[in-house]
Amino acid sequence: MQVPAQFQYEKATSVEHALSLLAQYGPESRIVAGGHSLLPMMKLRLAQPEALIDINDLEELSRISVEEHMLWIGALVRHADLLASAVAGEHFPIFHDAERMIADPIVRNRGTVGGSLCQADPSEDLSAAFTAVRGEAVIQGPDGRRVVPIREFFTGPYQTVVGDGEILTHLRVPIRSSASAYEKVERRAGDWAVAAAGAELRLEGDTLAEVGIGLTAVGASSFHAPEAEEFLVGGPATDERFDEAGAIAAQHCEPVPDQRGPVDYKRHLAATLTTRALRRARTRWHGQHNGAEKES
Ligand SMILES: Cc1cc2nc3c(=O)[nH]c(=O)nc-3n(C[C@H](O)[C@H](O)[C@H](O)COP(=O)(O)OP(=O)(O)OC[C@H]3O[C@@H](n4cnc5c(N)ncnc54)[C@H](O)[C@@H]3O)c2cc1C
Repeated sequence: MQVPAQFQYEKATSVEHALSLLAQYGPESRIVAGGHSLLPMMKLRLAQPEALIDINDLEELSRISVEEHMLWIGALVRHADLLASAVAGEHFPIFHDAERMIADPIVRNRGTVGGSLCQADPSEDLSAAFTAVRGEAVIQGPDGRRVVPIREFFTGPYQTVVGDGEILTHLRVPIRSSASAYEKVERRAGDWAVAAAGAELRLEGDTLAEVGIGLTAVGASSFHAPEAEEFLVGGPATDERFDEAGAIAAQHCEPVPDQRGPVDYKRHLAATLTTRALRRARTRWHGQHNGAEKES
């Protein structure tokens, strides 16, 4: 049986306490939230922190709320809580679409939104969802709080802007009139994505006034498809243009072949899922605004 190397364990009682523990133990200390990514890495000795700072008691990071026209999601919100949140689903159904397909109930009951984003696994689902809706990361450090657009949050595979001695405390998303959706292909229920795409849009008449597209597992830089967004904004929301946007998104991906599939297949999925997410978001938009189309 694989066991982690020895480490100190501390239970934080507040964000300030967690920050002081991080400062005390230095760069070899790590926050532990759900532990679903960190503990397996420790067992495999891919991570060997000298100290674990457990933030699971921090109620203030476990809430979902609407404040100042923003949806606030605490970093310690469990996947299952985001899936169950009516307010999150009402404003951003993309989160419910994604959460329904993340792992299994055991992982969803324990794994956290903040842990998922900080892990920055290239196949992680919420990273693409937050990218599509232009979320923001609220990061607390010894010098105070800073807010980073999620599109600037990821610096590479398994890397983010959260520095040593800092904690991601919340994700937040400005609430506005929009519709969103997430589409994923997995080899079997509960598996990581072969590929997935999220889309958010706002229409003014028949014209796309705003579009956000996030992709995962296909090597999109920072989970983002800016070229496809630029192509769509300012034009009509037609099936043909959504197909073209999917092709553009796929063209700018750099998938790697692995046990989930070859490059061509992943690129094909990037195109198809981008198109599907856009269509589903458009259907939701029309459903909200004139009830004309039935959701597919
Ligand atoms: C079997 C299995 C299947 C899975 N399938 C999927 C899937 O289909 N899609 C998907 O997206 N994910 C999937 N996951 C990942 C899952 O979503 C985990 O919850 C997620 O990877 C990490 O969340 P966590 O709370 O467990 O983080 P932890 O393991 O506790 O931490 C992960 C990393 O983030 C850091 N960290 C955690 N919280 C903070 C914070 N607030 N501030 C700063 N740093 C922090 C830790 O130090 C660590 O480096 C799966 C996991 C498993 C085990």
